[in-house]
Amino acid sequence: MKHVRGLVVGGGAIGASVAYHLAKAGWSDVVLLERDELTSGSTWHAAGLLPLFNMSYATSHIHDYSVKFYKTLEEETGLNAGFSVVGNLRMAQSQARMDEYQLYATTAESVGIPYEWLSADEIKQRWPLVRTEDLIGALYHPTDGYINPADVTMAMAKGARQRGVEIIRKRQVDSYEWTGDAWIVRGRIMVEKGGNLVASDETFEISAEHVVTATGNHAQRTAQLLGLKIPAIPVEHQFIVTEPDPALVEYRKTHGEHPVLRDADAKWYVREERGGWILGPYEKNAPARFEYGVPDSFRADLFPLDLERIEEEYMSFIHRIPSSEEVGLKDDFNGPICYTPDGNPLVGPAPGLTNMWLAEGFSFGITAAGGTGHYLAQMMAEGEAEIDMASLDPKRFGPWMTTEYAARKNEECYDHVYILHHPDEERPACRPLRTAPCYDRMKAAGAQFGCVNGWERPNYFAPDGFSDHDSRSFRRGGWWEYAKAEAEAIREGVGLIDASAFTKHRISGPGATAFLDWFTTNKLPKVGRINLTYALTETGTTRSEYTIVRLAEDDYYLVSAGAWAAYDEDFLYKAIMEKEPEFGRINEQDVTTQWGVFAVAGPKSRELLNALVCDAEPGTVLSNKRFPWLSMRNIELKMCPVMALRVAYTGELGWELHHPMEMQNYLLDRLMEVGEPLGLKLVGARAQNWLRQEKSYRAFGTELGRDATPLEAGLDRFVDLSKEFHGKAAMETIGVRFRCVTVLVDGPEDADPWGREALYVGDEKVGRLTSGGYSVAFGKSIGMGYVRPDLAVEGTNLKVRMQDRLWDAVVTEDSPYDPKNATIRIDG
Ligand SMILES: Cc1cc2nc3c(=O)[nH]c(=O)nc-3n(C[C@H](O)[C@H](O)[C@H](O)COP(=O)(O)OP(=O)(O)OC[C@H]3O[C@@H](n4cnc5c(N)ncnc54)[C@H](O)[C@@H]3O)c2cc1C
Repeated sequence: MKHVRGLVVGGGAIGASVAYHLAKAGWSDVVLLERDELTSGSTWHAAGLLPLFNMSYATSHIHDYSVKFYKTLEEETGLNAGFSVVGNLRMAQSQARMDEYQLYATTAESVGIPYEWLSADEIKQRWPLVRTEDLIGALYHPTDGYINPADVTMAMAKGARQRGVEIIRKRQVDSYEWTGDAWIVRGRIMVEKGGNLVASDETFEISAEHVVTATGNHAQRTAQLLGLKIPAIPVEHQFIVTEPDPALVEYRKTHGEHPVLRDADAKWYVREERGGWILGPYEKNAPARFEYGVPDSFRADLFPLDLERIEEEYMSFIHRIPSSEEVGLKDDFNGPICYTPDGNPLVGPAPGLTNMWLAEGFSFGITAAGGTGHYLAQMMAEGEAEIDMASLDPKRFGPWMTTEYAARKNEECYDHVYILHHPDEERPACRPLRTAPCYDRMKAAGAQFGCVNGWERPNYFAPDGFSDHDSRSFRRGGWWEYAKAEAEAIREGVGLIDASAFTKHRISGPGATAFLDWFTTNKLPKVGRINLTYALTETGTTRSEYTIVRLAEDDYYLVSAGAWAAYDEDFLYKAIMEKEPEFGRINEQDVTTQWGVFAVAGPKSRELLNALVCDAEPGTVLSNKRFPWLSMRNIELKMCPVMALRVAYTGELGWELHHPMEMQNYLLDRLMEVGEPLGLKLVGARAQNWLRQEKSYRAFGTELGRDATPLEAGLDRFVDLSKEFHGKAAMETIGVRFRCVTVLVDGPEDADPWGREALYVGDEKVGRLTSGGYSVAFGKSIGMGYVRPDLAVEGTNLKVRMQDRLWDAVVTEDSPYDPKNATIRIDG
């Protein structure tokens, strides 16, 4: 049987790029298998647009790489991929849309993507066929454009072959079997019969150290073969091609090609095509397809055009380019375009499987192919990519995810492509789904919920009749004043936060202590004590953050970020599988849904709990002597047994009350009763996010991720360099390339940073923010981010770009609010 190091399944744009980049990374034996012809999946009918615009930091890097890489392919392979660098014009009909572009521009700037602003008049002067009187302006990207999707795929395939990759067509993979050190991949040879593609009786087998699946619309079949749930399900997407437009033909006699035009408020893109136009709308009610797999009869096929569905967008296209009104339709395409519930593809290790990598669910796969191949090959060949790929990780959707959920969310995602992407956006489809028992009580109290890993979690509390949807903004949303009052309540009185969505694991058994000591950076706590600690990647960057509680000698309770339950579970599980033979038996259990969590915090939090706690000496049970900071005690709050952790993510005196989920409402009712005279306030995640920045508490997914080490994050005190731990040597080799800082910002009157803005000294870009918000303690905007190490000094003056202007920011000491932790440790 043939054995290779890397096997790629799927010969669309993504598979071709992954194979190319694995070979480029030095893997000499790579095979790509394709069941039909290269590009016969969604790739053949893509419109080929390469938009650099993307609100996500990782995806912006991916798209940026692709656009630069595609420009090099002809020189390398001799094949012209048909890259028309015509630029990309995003028009805005409203100030809110311009606000969106300005916020996006901060990401572009952080990544180094060039852009320009154009007024309506400037657009008219350059492109007179475009109606502009109802436009406010536009964002223009000069360096992107469109490409021929089949040609760029063929060029990558040729480049891959030149680097030694073997590409075999008409091979359909039907099964995957892991033997312990390799994957045995089996399948059938496909043959043409009367225009159809059918599986013959002839079979093949190949063994591979690593497998990447890039199976496009066939992701559901791939999921079944691997025994996984993969939320990649296509939705119909259509574009139409017009006959030549005489006005355009005339214009082109003396002018260059139009940029790709995007009227986001009208929900479409347009580009030139042989004297006519291509119109691609993102209309309402486009249905999901192939929820349970692609039928054998569907090959490189299309669905019938549904002109009625895109009528509104068609009319607005005629409005924007009036000369198109008399022009007839020449061609149409309605094909499957893969989506995921959050619109990002699924790129990275498959949950629970060794050396199995997914590259599925691409809705901008032509744009993303180059960068995906590049960064995925880095992950596979070097252990990690240079950017944090967590936002694309397949494990961001947990095992609670179903086909129905994925299909409906994917339809929503398609429908939302051109909505205003407010940073405080919450999407409504498929909710509520995962709710803690207190959901109804929280809702009755005015909770406006956010969705974290499917869980409903209060963002803030507002009075009856308040509309979260209508309050969203790129500046301070209507919710801002409620979050401010909640933050103040914690600083001055007492607040309660529903933190039940936290991820919780129990690790126990004879091998548990040695394992966790190796797995995490900090010293393990003593029994009854708590430590903050980090698990690292192969390359020494931060893979996960844990609050670790030692319940008994060999029994630990690990609490980590709520959004990352399956991501953390998979990492723990794989590490335990690897290390159990060395350390002895290790029991690992995800107990997330068994334990509810209420965080109570504020100067009056001890008084609150004292009113409920049952103990032989109730007056001292919560004192510093019996219950010091960073310790855990099992207490009883009336009839509810509580594992209480004396920690406070808000930086105020407080406890996390981990309680049996089924007793949650009992406990909440008691807390609310005794809290009333103390002014207990329900507090949401937005206020908590602001408060933790005043304490410089790094958050997982923003300051903490796979692109920085804990030392770069400034968490040296949680890294015990006197012991050996996973990733230590790599972490030390990296050194400190940049460092995490907290800044106070003298920003605009009506806005706070969102945590994606570029930081400057003079004209020089020196870093970026990863978090942002408002500080009630300092009465101004606050943020956290990364800068050059020499600038990570208290008092350094920086500038932060917001609303297309530079504003003063100053680096504070770490934990600018209560740096000595006096309020947290207060006795009573
Ligand atoms: C109308 C339309 C317009 C679009 N316009 C754009 C655009 O302008 N810009 C952009 O970036 N994107 C665009 N897209 C999206 C783009 O087409 C896709 O994101 C991209 O083609 C996905 O590439 P892929 O390699 O993941 O999948 P595919 O191209 O579908 O390739 C997957 C391949 O895997 C093979 N395969 C599956 N299962 C197996 C198996 N078991 N064994 C062997 N082989 C297997 C399939 O035969 C197929 O060739 C558009 C999509 C549509 C529908």
